[in-house]
Amino acid sequence: MTSNEIRPSRQWRGVLHEYADRLDVTDATPVITLGEGGTPLIPAAALSARTGANVFVKYEGMNPTGSFKDRGMTMAISKAVEHGAKAVICASTGNTSASAAAYATHAGITAAVLVPEGKIAMGKLSQAIAHDARLLQVRGNFDDCLDLARELANNYPVHLVNSVNNDRIEGQKTGAFEVVEVLRDAPDFHIVPVGNAGNYTAYHRGYREELDRGATTKLPRMFGFQAAGSAPIVVGHVVKDPDTIASAIRIGNPASWQLAIAAREDSDGYFGAIDDTRILEAHRILSAEVGIFVEPASAISVAGLLEQADAGVITPGSTVVLTVTGHGLKDPQWALRTADGSDVQPESVGVDPVEIADVLGLAAA
Ligand SMILES: *Cc1c(COP(=O)(O)O)cnc(C)c1O
Repeated sequence: MTSNEIRPSRQWRGVLHEYADRLDVTDATPVITLGEGGTPLIPAAALSARTGANVFVKYEGMNPTGSFKDRGMTMAISKAVEHGAKAVICASTGNTSASAAAYATHAGITAAVLVPEGKIAMGKLSQAIAHDARLLQVRGNFDDCLDLARELANNYPVHLVNSVNNDRIEGQKTGAFEVVEVLRDAPDFHIVPVGNAGNYTAYHRGYREELDRGATTKLPRMFGFQAAGSAPIVVGHVVKDPDTIASAIRIGNPASWQLAIAAREDSDGYFGAIDDTRILEAHRILSAEVGIFVEPASAISVAGLLEQADAGVITPGSTVVLTVTGHGLKDPQWALRTADGSDVQPESVGVDPVEIADVLGLAAA
């Protein structure tokens, strides 16, 4: 190839175009896409060194609205428009609202989003408003919001785009397809944060389809982690007042609970709980040692890896994929929080190279 030839376009086209043959997409489906999916699978040397496993991080913060929700939302909004919907509704801990708002406005339809009052991260709230959603703060928790969204969708002309809508799970299963394309097989373990358990269910479904069509040799063991104050699947009953700093997984009654239990059984998987202190430690390890910035809920995948490697369950030499679900800029203040609860104050210096060199501990050349 001579230097003035233009290479063929390799722009990623979004999951509905890339995986049209593996999703319910027909000529009648108007594809509403912002180019979601195709996210990097990053080898994490620091986590491999800590555990002896081969650890890869699927960085879902690289999606258009900064979370994996976009994979499901492109599907849900495209199918809603295919069926003539003019408005969609969802309950959200934040990222679903940001994603629904962006995809709905791109499609030229209205999004109404119900969020628990005072309980969602500022970055996510501003996204929903920026994308022109009707955002209502409900004086209740996420589980109340989901009950309301379901009731409204049943009784009014508005289409539900929470992950109780199977289109969401279908779109999200493409995360597993991408992992298989890069690794040329399934990993031994796949770890995800769990809130409504839709993503856990979706990855399992994607890997199950890959195995059934002969593209892989195994099903990964699906490991899901909930925050200790919000771990209904682990404790085995609904949690009335779920509590954790990881707002994206502050859910007491997961919508995909039964599907997730079936996925765990099929994959010899596991559900565990991790407390907030460990979540923040893992958040720090991922950002300071690997160079990947996530929101707190996403860091639970890292905390789960370290716990299970310590316990000898995840053995040296095994291949592990961690999904980190949302971008750190959505909820950035946790990076500044120190162990004693105060905030980091960046050092201040004068316009003086000698002073700066001194502060940095640089010796004169
Ligand atoms: C939605 C979300 C989760 C939880 O996913 P579920 O499918 O509800 O289990 C985890 N992390 C982030 C950042 C999310 O936005």
